[in-house]
Amino acid sequence: MARDHSPQCKQCRREGQKLFLKGERCLTDKCGVERRSYPPGEHGRGRQKQSEYRVQLREKQKARRYYGVQEKQFRIYYAKASRQPGITGENLLRMLECRLDNVLVRLGFAASRRQARQLVGHGHWTVNGRRVDIPSYQVRDGDIIAIKAKTGADGVIREATELTGQIPAWLQADHDALTAKVLRRPERREIAAPVQEQLIVELYSK
Ligand code: SF4
Repeated sequence: MARDHSPQCKQCRREGQKLFLKGERCLTDKCGVERRSYPPGEHGRGRQKQSEYRVQLREKQKARRYYGVQEKQFRIYYAKASRQPGITGENLLRMLECRLDNVLVRLGFAASRRQARQLVGHGHWTVNGRRVDIPSYQVRDGDIIAIKAKTGADGVIREATELTGQIPAWLQADHDALTAKVLRRPERREIAAPVQEQLIVELYSK
């Protein structure tokens, strides 16, 4: 699958805020946004023209970068979200939040979404006893997530658990056994993404 290989700190600087794409480094004073709080590029420090379209576009790009999703896949999420009952923007965020790679970060089993994607892609995790190697896998109520037996990745995963803050109420984690349970799908107020989803809906509704 295509991935965004552009430097992660530049992605944060472009969006003007910390997106926590690099794990532990994001918590130190080596953070790119802390060191250079202006957009990258030759005109980074110049005056930026703010149009309504630009604001909406940046919000969409920010959401894509935060969750590590490519444009094509993001549009598919949006199309699905708009067909579901309820508020389209919230449906969209909920789907992004329920991706297995994101859930591993929320549980503290990976320091970043990029690391989570690699761990999933290499087959280190199971869901309900079956190996899942698709980072975009949508978790459901009651799913049991566990590390695969004899993976050799438990050292990296345990290191990541030491960086963990609070685990959201819709998830339950056991950091000793490296297992977790999805209690339910998240409410909007439980999704800690720095995204105003309404701006994305406005962009795609044009
Ligand atoms: Fe973003 Fe992390 Fe780089 Fe800071 S260190 S700019 S939060 S990726």
